[in-house]
Amino acid sequence: MNTVYHQNGYKVSLGKQGADRYTKISYPQRYGRYSEVETKEAIYQFNGNAEIIFARGKGETWPNPQEWLKRSVGNDWIYYSTGGYTGVFEAIGEFYLPNLQYPTNALMGGNPFASDPVRRIINEWHDNIVKVRGGLAGAPPQVKDFLGKAVANNPAILAEKARRLFQISGGRVTVLPPDSRHADYNVIPLTAAEGCLYKCRFCKVKTARPFQEVSKAEIERRLDELVELYGEDLNNYNSLFLGEHDALCSSRELLLYSVTRAYERLGFGTSYMRGSNVFLFGSVDSFLNAEEQLFDELRRLPCEFYMNIGLESADQETLDKLGKPISAAAVEEAFKRMQSINAAYMNIEVSANFLMDASLPDSHYPATLRLIRDSIPRRKPKGTIYLSPLKFGAPSRELVLAFNRFKLQSRLPTFLYIIQRL
Ligand code: SF4
Repeated sequence: MNTVYHQNGYKVSLGKQGADRYTKISYPQRYGRYSEVETKEAIYQFNGNAEIIFARGKGETWPNPQEWLKRSVGNDWIYYSTGGYTGVFEAIGEFYLPNLQYPTNALMGGNPFASDPVRRIINEWHDNIVKVRGGLAGAPPQVKDFLGKAVANNPAILAEKARRLFQISGGRVTVLPPDSRHADYNVIPLTAAEGCLYKCRFCKVKTARPFQEVSKAEIERRLDELVELYGEDLNNYNSLFLGEHDALCSSRELLLYSVTRAYERLGFGTSYMRGSNVFLFGSVDSFLNAEEQLFDELRRLPCEFYMNIGLESADQETLDKLGKPISAAAVEEAFKRMQSINAAYMNIEVSANFLMDASLPDSHYPATLRLIRDSIPRRKPKGTIYLSPLKFGAPSRELVLAFNRFKLQSRLPTFLYIIQRL
């Protein structure tokens, strides 16, 4: 039930209902059930566990009333900017550009974290909630109870909860699939298999551990802990990240087991958010080796599946230079299979990553265009191609322009991949 309480210039709203379906719209949208505290200077929003998740300043000093801060479950503050609206949607497929505080491969965006009002929100939100609690001495019990919990979830506790999440997952999720943008990166991570097959030289997100499946007992243990950790906020989730870097390389049995058990245990069928998504990574080998029966069985599950395959390049010289131990012929084969899976299965979308950088051999771009333009007879709405800038911490207008030229020629939806962790 929605409760609204005003006192001393403060407003507390409990049980607010945001959108129940992820959509792409050009104004700020809140998802799921949340509570809100409004002061003269700022608006703060909290999830079902009374943990802060959104904030924005009010008044003229805030960079833009359409922009806001989001705190991820991994305890990162992310600033969503409009980017002046010009070209953001065309570039990333979303109306808002996530600005991250850690090194990543983003080509666009400024430095909103240098802005005083943004820094003040991040540094002072908790002190301000303590003040609100002090100013609402006469509030009804449910408001006091909520504020007590919001104050208890101080920055140290939130950092500790994030550490616990990393522990449950066997380590921090260093990279989320690009398609998880469809759920605003609000995914619950469950690692079915650790590590990856290739250990490519160019890759900045790989883990040292060798590829290894997790046991079913370990999946159950992790789900128990995830249910406990997400607690009262679990109902706001409908999306799974099945980790780690190559979940598609797990056995068919383990993959299906992990997805079905996660769907049941995490309550996706009864989530406030409608629909259900599973995001995972795959490699060229795991994708080519995946039995058709796997896709047939996934078809029957009540989820949308997004599999992201790291193709990187269809040019042998580029693959060798990148230290990616696969052949251009296998990349081509995987691309072909991607087209047939995307055509055959309504609830499965296979997307692919290609790299971009000025330092790559001249043969890289023509080889990629041979696949995404020449081999596709007409434009298709499915089977997204992500171009992933190779360098971290190197925003570049030239590369954005190069991307735009590339995108115009592609016959598949084509976007930039901003590497985001959880
Ligand atoms: S690109 Fe993928 S397969 Fe290669 S090292 Fe990175 S995570 Fe592993």
